Amino acid sequence: AAQTMEQLVSLCKRRGFIFPGSAVYGGLQGTYDYGPLGVELKNNLKLAWWRANVWEREDMEGIDAAILMNKLTWRYSGHEETFVDPMVDCKNCKMRWRADQISGKCPNCASTELTEPRPFNLMFKTQIGPVPDPESFSYLRPETAQGIFVNFKHVLDSTSRKLPFGIAQIGKAFRNEITPRNFIFRVREFEQMEIEFFVRPGEDEAWHKKWVEDRINWWLSVGLSRENLEPYHQKPNELAHYAKATVDLLYRFPHGLEELEGIANRTDYDLGSHSKDQGSLGLKARVSPNSHSTDKLTYFDPETKQHVVPFVIEPSAGVDRGVLALLSEAYAEEQVKPAPVDRLKPVEEALGTFLKSVGRNEKLPAQAKEALLAEGERIAQSLGERLPSIAGLLSMPGAEGIEVAKKLRGQVDPVIDEFYRTVLHFKPHLAPIKVAVLPLKKNHPEIVSTAKSIRRKLQSTGAMRIVYDDTGAIGKLYRRQDEIGTPFCITVDFDTLGEGKDAALKNTVTVRHRDSMAQERVAISELEAYLREKMQ
Ligand code: ATP
Repeated sequence: AAQTMEQLVSLCKRRGFIFPGSAVYGGLQGTYDYGPLGVELKNNLKLAWWRANVWEREDMEGIDAAILMNKLTWRYSGHEETFVDPMVDCKNCKMRWRADQISGKCPNCASTELTEPRPFNLMFKTQIGPVPDPESFSYLRPETAQGIFVNFKHVLDSTSRKLPFGIAQIGKAFRNEITPRNFIFRVREFEQMEIEFFVRPGEDEAWHKKWVEDRINWWLSVGLSRENLEPYHQKPNELAHYAKATVDLLYRFPHGLEELEGIANRTDYDLGSHSKDQGSLGLKARVSPNSHSTDKLTYFDPETKQHVVPFVIEPSAGVDRGVLALLSEAYAEEQVKPAPVDRLKPVEEALGTFLKSVGRNEKLPAQAKEALLAEGERIAQSLGERLPSIAGLLSMPGAEGIEVAKKLRGQVDPVIDEFYRTVLHFKPHLAPIKVAVLPLKKNHPEIVSTAKSIRRKLQSTGAMRIVYDDTGAIGKLYRRQDEIGTPFCITVDFDTLGEGKDAALKNTVTVRHRDSMAQERVAISELEAYLREKMQ
């Protein structure tokens, strides 16, 4: 697993998983863009969730509701009044903080002169329509859940579902976080994977328990390890006002043990809140009187011939936090074979030169300088074990333009490539790229055309993303695929063409496994079946 967030930030930028948002304009805090590999990883995570929670269950339907909703939704859901964080201002440096995330001291200037906490609403307000009327506004949704509640009747009527059943949705949510931080962990625009599972009152506690188990097992199925996952039962004083019980699934992120998903028993609060004639519904939850709703969000129980307001169990997970957990869990820096001391010596010297030149560089912003020196220090200490971090060091913001960094890279790269690798041990079904087809020689027309046709053929099955890559020597290509988590590499060589020593190898290729680095020979005609089986 990753030891520091910097390892992940640097790999993500270098290889094209995740970039800081709006970078050419100096960025926009709390936003990130998913790059060519990031979008594949994120889509694979969402697809795995959808598969397990919608397709493979018999008690679930999916929807995709609008991000913009009638603003009354947010009045009656309680968000206008209570979706707030306590905010404090530092009287010294004027920075603003979430009071519950700092301990009485400004993290920027260490001043203890802070204002009293005051509530700050996290919803982004936005104007609706061309006429600047103060009443024509709504909010970007801060959670996807409300789109499910207001569609409860539609889904019920169009599918004739019986209790218990659930509605699942994946989509964007927006929160004007006071202090976005920790890479994609806390951002202002993110995605959620949410389920509202409707049950008979009285059956809620058993279902809540079952969902906690289900959700833990699902996170294990995508590759998180049990020791990094911790269920946390919220104490009564921590519970949201509508919740009867909430279990948070905490994950050991590089910055600490924090929430990945929350699983709440929301009672009949949500359906009750959005209903008319609330007095006739026998609600257990305390709701605000609703004078606008046009419907009762109830379920007619054919057995008891009664209308009931179902209780809701809500497993709500963050897609971006899921991606961060997958990356963190999968990350490893490994020594491939022992590095002899005489190969390390020049690298050590080059690192020394690099650190000195960072220290002397006047143009480097102080913060970048500090980060580079600290990272260099760390590497120097563990030289021999952690060399791949040097590659990360060189691509850190602020390092660009330093002449000596390039020279260092020239010396370091061959050693890294020979003795070390960074690898992402993704489960195959989550890997952004499943197979890379590599030609042993890129200037040999027949090897190249064979490799390209294998790629085309495998890709045409539509089951997985396959790439062709000839931008380096084979060892380098393997390392690059390791670093982005590709589980299989296929190499086309002279044996494939029947031009090697062993004629029996004609029409076979080398399949190299990412985790074990083992290689085996497979007939081209068997490849598709072979990969399909391994991908299960
Ligand atoms: P936190 O306490 O960390 O602010 P929360 O308890 O407010 O989170 P919920 O309202 O329960 O979060 O949202 C459900 C899920 O949505 C969270 O478990 C998390 O995975 C995700 N999520 C919430 N806020 C953010 C955010 N600002 N950035 C990324 N993901 C988020």
